[in-house]
Amino acid sequence: MKEIIPVFPELSRSKKQVGGMVNRAISFTQGLPPLSLYIHVPWCVKKCPYCDFNSHAQKGELPEEHYLNALAADLEQTLPLIWGRQIHTVFIGGGTPSLLSAQAVERMMAMLRNYLNIWPDTEVTLEANPGTAEALRFKQYAESGINRISLGIQSFDDRALGILGRIHDSRQAIEAIEMAQKAVGRINLDLMYALPGQTLESCKNDIETALSFDTEHLSLYHLTMEPNTVFAKYPPSGLPDDDTSAALQDMLIELTASRGLEQYEVSAYARPGARARHNVNYWEFGDYIGIGPGAHGKLSFHDRIVRTAKVRNPESWMEKAVLRNGSHLAEERELESSELPFEFMLNALRLKEGVPVSCFEERTSLSLAGISRQLEAALKKGLLDADPMRIKASPLGWRFLNDLQGLFL
Ligand code: SF4
Repeated sequence: MKEIIPVFPELSRSKKQVGGMVNRAISFTQGLPPLSLYIHVPWCVKKCPYCDFNSHAQKGELPEEHYLNALAADLEQTLPLIWGRQIHTVFIGGGTPSLLSAQAVERMMAMLRNYLNIWPDTEVTLEANPGTAEALRFKQYAESGINRISLGIQSFDDRALGILGRIHDSRQAIEAIEMAQKAVGRINLDLMYALPGQTLESCKNDIETALSFDTEHLSLYHLTMEPNTVFAKYPPSGLPDDDTSAALQDMLIELTASRGLEQYEVSAYARPGARARHNVNYWEFGDYIGIGPGAHGKLSFHDRIVRTAKVRNPESWMEKAVLRNGSHLAEERELESSELPFEFMLNALRLKEGVPVSCFEERTSLSLAGISRQLEAALKKGLLDADPMRIKASPLGWRFLNDLQGLFL
């Protein structure tokens, strides 16, 4: 399934001053950004050939007990960094979190309530794979506090599902949606387009089938050949060319809009009031902690912003987390203030409506005046909207998003 992850440059990027941006001191005087929690479940039934996530084919029984103990240890070691802060949203992603038993999810949720400030109406999403869906388990997940399910459907076309190496077929996809809808009110369906051999007609069938379930949210991803995947090494034949891909995307936007789902981000479509709050927090450059193997975090403190990444290998992470000596932390890096404009724009400009100008200062603690040269250049090229109240890509900027974001490097 396609996991939504925040966008940020490689953690290993040079710390040197970039693009002439001047390093100013980071100082949050107006309060810190909203804080989300991401939990990574690293196992899948098998690895899909296009997937570059930290997901591993499950061998034998899932080590739930060991995993939950390590998760608790990971969280405990993170707690001193977030004392007193409210958790705004929770996302349990993977991998395939729906491989976890109902009891494991219940323990996980109890642990979160025990350790963290979580309101009863906090958005708590769990990613599920239709090939591992069970009606009773979905109901039990909901009873534990999961109030949103994100289903990795990808396609309703059995031929395409076969090429994508998915473990489910279209019948299981439909059954999983119906089970999820009975269990929780809020559903997201992940679909992919620009699939091998896909035509306008077959793509239309996929989207119309997805729309027929009337879910509040759809995530529609263009299939890409990510490095270090099977597809990168052995690309499937029949991939649509750029013109066909663009036509497919235009059709998706039209079809979803005709059914009341508005595109609000590059890949996200929602009914009014039903945006994925967790993902929006990433795109608005909010804070998040990540627990579990390979999970990333971004945390603001009154005088600095720190990015973290946990050890990727599930077994090593489990072994190290329970030692409680910090060895489960693979990377920890304080961001230079000169890096923040690019990092902010990399995320915020993905939002179709952009963000209020005040968001830049609130989330980076830097003055907007510090990037006036870049803003002016973007305006001059017609890549930014001339709205003085918002930082927002123009239609041209939306088409050439990489170029626009690159101006803030
Ligand atoms: S099910 Fe999702 S996370 Fe697992 S291998 Fe396939 S795409 Fe990756």
